[in-house]
Amino acid sequence: MKLDVNALRYLSKDDFRVLTAVEMGMRNHEIVPAELVDRIAGLKHGGTYKVLRNLLKNKLVHHDATKYDGYRLTYLGYDFLAIKTLVNRGVFASVGRQIGVGKESDIFEVATEDGTILAMKLHRLGRTSFRAVKSKRDYLRHRRSFNWLYLSRLAALKEFAFMKALGDHGFPVPTAVDCNRHCVIMSLVQGYPLVQVKELQNPDDVFDTILGLIVRLAEHGLIHCDFNEFNIMIDDDEKITVIDFPQMVSVSHRNAQMFFDRDIECIYKFFNKRFNLTSEKNEEQPGSESDDEGNSRPSFLSVKKAAGSLDKELAASGFTRKEQVEMEKFIEEDAGHDSSSDDDDDDDEVSDAVPLVSLKIDQQVRLPSKDGSDEPDSNLASRDSDVPGTFS
Ligand code: ADP
Ligand code: MG
Repeated sequence: MKLDVNALRYLSKDDFRVLTAVEMGMRNHEIVPAELVDRIAGLKHGGTYKVLRNLLKNKLVHHDATKYDGYRLTYLGYDFLAIKTLVNRGVFASVGRQIGVGKESDIFEVATEDGTILAMKLHRLGRTSFRAVKSKRDYLRHRRSFNWLYLSRLAALKEFAFMKALGDHGFPVPTAVDCNRHCVIMSLVQGYPLVQVKELQNPDDVFDTILGLIVRLAEHGLIHCDFNEFNIMIDDDEKITVIDFPQMVSVSHRNAQMFFDRDIECIYKFFNKRFNLTSEKNEEQPGSESDDEGNSRPSFLSVKKAAGSLDKELAASGFTRKEQVEMEKFIEEDAGHDSSSDDDDDDDEVSDAVPLVSLKIDQQVRLPSKDGSDEPDSNLASRDSDVPGTFS
């Protein structure tokens, strides 16, 4: 999705006030009645209606008059609220180019005041193939309340909590910097997604490192569930960084074994196809078992026996059990797996990804920082925890 942050520079305090009022209204309404927006925003002399027209023109809200005169946030509107909050916190000062388009996210470079480049991931749950969306809709029918913004916020919260915990335990993941609404700020990883790499100096070493990571994760109580060439970054020294955590589960999940085996299988398949690697050499290792072709693979059961409790630590941190359950239900309904590694056509995958180059200053859009005059959440108390966004 295109993210034109230019408009952000020209939005006034009142614009943000009304935008935040729409967001607050969405806690209880899919479409927020204009009157309610007006009441929450509390602008004088019908000012809200004029501002709403401006927000509509900038595609920050969507107008719906089917049942009554009402509005809802667009993803762009939600993006602006998150970006504004993070800029006010001093997390970054400008937004640069898009560096990645995931299945359910957009990734941009952002720069801090002192010029450090970070990565900003905006979660966009629901933006998937028709089939996946349909299966999610089927799931929604069984639920009382639901909101795409809410799920995207959960995904970001989970990703942030996991990234932080994994980093603290020495896993090669981006450094988790901050999180607001559906937006995660993390360090920028140097290198390329493994899917783009045609040749490796030491494919055996890289393969062993990656398998070792899957096993070590499980030993800590976790399974990535999307461990594939799209979510592994590799730099010129063939150093690995793992990204993309919203779908991770605990080893005590009832489908844990299947997820673990699937992660392992993805890596075997990719290395076999791309680098001609078969891995009988692991045969004698403890904790391995033979597959159909007689190759030895890490065994989930022996890994699980030794599993630590990072999953439990995480449950105790920002991402609670209830949220975990909601996310898992959603993910299970999503038949699609992020990986296209089952496809035979590798080259298409490569062309999808945007190459990483450093951000030129003139490509950045500088955003107004906090000066008191355009603070979006001052009176409206739009703290993170105030945006559950479900509607009944
Ligand atoms: P999705 O959940 O939508 O698959 P990912 O987290 O996998 O999103 O990110 C999509 C792409 O964006 C990645 O394949 C990678 O190219 C790029 N990307 C994501 N995070 C970073 C980062 N921290 N540094 C550099 N590039 C990144
Ligand atoms: Mg991904």
